[in-house]
Amino acid sequence: MLKTKRMSIVPTFVCTLRCKMCSNHMPEFKNPPVASVEDMKKDIDHLFELFDKIEWLQFVGGEIFTHKHLDEVFEYCKKYSDRFDRLIIESNSTIMPTEKEMESLLSYGSKLKVMISDYGELSKAKDEFVAIMEENNIEYVLKKYHGDVADQHFGGWIDNTACKDLLEPDDYVTKQSALCAQVRLENMHVFKGKLHRCSNSLFLSELGVCVPNKNDFVDLNDDKSIEEKREIIKTFYDYPRKSCHYCTWKSGDSAERYSAAIQEGK
Ligand code: SF4
Repeated sequence: MLKTKRMSIVPTFVCTLRCKMCSNHMPEFKNPPVASVEDMKKDIDHLFELFDKIEWLQFVGGEIFTHKHLDEVFEYCKKYSDRFDRLIIESNSTIMPTEKEMESLLSYGSKLKVMISDYGELSKAKDEFVAIMEENNIEYVLKKYHGDVADQHFGGWIDNTACKDLLEPDDYVTKQSALCAQVRLENMHVFKGKLHRCSNSLFLSELGVCVPNKNDFVDLNDDKSIEEKREIIKTFYDYPRKSCHYCTWKSGDSAERYSAAIQEGK
């Protein structure tokens, strides 16, 4: 049986903000790619061919609600509703979902959980979003990312924007990457047929600054058998991958923290 705790589907790299320390490197994408509804449906079918169980099926961007057609994808996920426990939405609350997207989300009831990043005055849609969640008894988490750094969610952001091999000793990378939150949560990320073990591996690879090694990701569309792909996935967290050498998250507890969402040009 193949299971994972988290599976993040990335609908779009388009974001409404340009944060200097974006951990997903979104401002670095000059032409941010977008997955079509058909791309995502195909990925979802492939994922549920491979995985028997996914605890949290997540949608993470960019800002996912720039996509505008996610209602079709949320509805499609219902085909597999007995195979995942929660539908999780991550938003920076700068814009609202479309009416159809909101209607589809609310139809998930207690299975839905919304993670709202509150960037203070940048998060213009936060109050409206929160009010709808409360009216409909939907579980939500408001992550405070404004005001004093010490009071921000997880003590603020980590600067993960070096985008180069940090040339740390292999034994340090091995030890620290095993402790990384993305590893502990088995937070796999998928975009247009590429399944990676974490967000940093996906985004650095899409940016072209870190070419992943063989078996650092699975191409959901290639002609390997389901069993071959499963075997690769089973080893995802056994040892550090190329992206771990580029990543400051592995030093999470000791890494310096910064105020979140400072906009480029400010
Ligand atoms: S690249 Fe490695 S250390 Fe960084 S988030 Fe991914 S698994 Fe963790």
